[in-house]
Amino acid sequence: MRAAVYRGANDLRIETVPVPRIGRNELLVRVATCGVCPTDIKKIHYGTVPPPRIFGHETAGTIVKIGAGGTSVPANRFKIGDRVSLHHHVPCMDCHFCRHHAFAQCAQYKQTGITAGFEPAGGGFAEYVRVMPFVLPGVVKIPAKNSFEEGAMLEPVNTVLKAVKRLALLPGDNVLVAGQGPIGLMFTRLLQLRGMNVLATDLLESRLRLAKEFGAKWTQNVGQASCLSSSKKEKNSSNGDRRDACPTLQDAAVLAVPSDAALKHAFKVVRGAGQILLFAHTKRGALTEVDLASVCVDEKDLVGSYSADFTIQKEVARLVFSRQMDVRGLITHRFALDHTAEAVELASHPTVESLKVIVSQEPKS
Ligand SMILES: [Zn+2]
Ligand SMILES: [Zn+2]
Repeated sequence: MRAAVYRGANDLRIETVPVPRIGRNELLVRVATCGVCPTDIKKIHYGTVPPPRIFGHETAGTIVKIGAGGTSVPANRFKIGDRVSLHHHVPCMDCHFCRHHAFAQCAQYKQTGITAGFEPAGGGFAEYVRVMPFVLPGVVKIPAKNSFEEGAMLEPVNTVLKAVKRLALLPGDNVLVAGQGPIGLMFTRLLQLRGMNVLATDLLESRLRLAKEFGAKWTQNVGQASCLSSSKKEKNSSNGDRRDACPTLQDAAVLAVPSDAALKHAFKVVRGAGQILLFAHTKRGALTEVDLASVCVDEKDLVGSYSADFTIQKEVARLVFSRQMDVRGLITHRFALDHTAEAVELASHPTVESLKVIVSQEPKS
């Protein structure tokens, strides 16, 4: 089969590799689509993990083979031909971290249970992947009315919903979401669905327009000062000065961009006892200054969230497949498997039009 093999920093090559062999209670899945995720991009660009590997972990496809012993639970949930969304990490649910609901820190969770060969790394940028028994509980069937692309978005939506649940919010609270890329837009929508008033910020007008569609109450171009209200009522009642409609204080701020300026701003606009959530600061060694009294005296919490929460997978599937969290508008670019390197390049240098980039192996209809 063909696969995009990572051979070193910034070196992805299309190679012919063996179709993975599967063992007892394992699945072989023919990949239909796989999202390009920033965490993979970082590993590819900076060469932070040793090659060779086949990346891609936002994967959806069709089960083409079920390993011997496939009658045992949970492999017997599946049959050949099922359209499924995969989850490459599943926690043990039993260790110190799992008991503290900190699944991303669990040793089993850190193992990758889906591979197309070499050191397991997701494997979605290949024609077929092997799904190991310990990640079977994370496999979700895709309803007939939904696309493989929607299935592939369960993983990123899960990471965002997990982060939203880290915030102690009450309906009607104001939340700043800094950065309206695909992840920021998911935050905007999921927060709005939970009854929050979202102020969405970005540098690109095209993204702010989308943020309104995804439920932002106010949008603000951080390059300019003015803040726009999405609601007609507020516009009319504010005597033409639409800045009046925007709140000066927030109950929480979500940083979907790794920006120091955005962090500084968040500390300023979040009110006492509010929360500031870091979602994009994944680079080790990144330092910044924080007025510690704003944490100790003003009781502003600085919290982080990383990766997914296996226990909310059903809720995520319901949100995505019912299209309350409609991910279809997020996917702007599709590349064939042979062009995976170009897909990674575009995802790492987004353009005005680009949001979610995927590698698609679905036949063009
Ligand atoms: Zn991802
Ligand atoms: Zn565990």
